[in-house]
Amino acid sequence: MDVHCDNCDAILDVTDDLFGKEIDCPGCGSRFVAVPMPDAPPAPPPAPPAPQAPTTPKPSVVQTFGKYALGIVLGLGLPFFAIRTIARSTSHTASVSHTATARAMLGPGATLADVETLAALYSLADKPRLTEQEILQAHAYRAELMIRHDAVALRVAIGPSSVSIR
Ligand SMILES: [Zn+2]
Repeated sequence: MDVHCDNCDAILDVTDDLFGKEIDCPGCGSRFVAVPMPDAPPAPPPAPPAPQAPTTPKPSVVQTFGKYALGIVLGLGLPFFAIRTIARSTSHTASVSHTATARAMLGPGATLADVETLAALYSLADKPRLTEQEILQAHAYRAELMIRHDAVALRVAIGPSSVSIR
């Protein structure tokens, strides 16, 4: 335990059994009563880390273009654009649900599953940007519809501005 010499300011490390007894300071020779020094004040707690703004990297122009290029590679670039065009032209107001639009597009004979699939496809087409997974999902929806609704699926896939449907 440390004791402090008031005469020369030396700090002496003494055994506990000397506490309360007179000791001779080896530095200055003065005699004083060994009194344990008060505990050093505890170190201040470390400052909490400064809140960091979430770093969500924005996709660069190159990445965005790369994603669009991927859609073209998959043969979905133009179809996706056409899907958006149809979805907008058939949604006169925001209250028109995709399900109602899909039902009208497929006609009265369509199964509920197909209506829901096309409605889901419209929902994807509404998004300003699709993830790669969503692009693949749209592709799957379209392929699913084409099994039973060739004409509709082609129209959805290629769109009214297409110059040729092969
Ligand atoms: Zn001393």
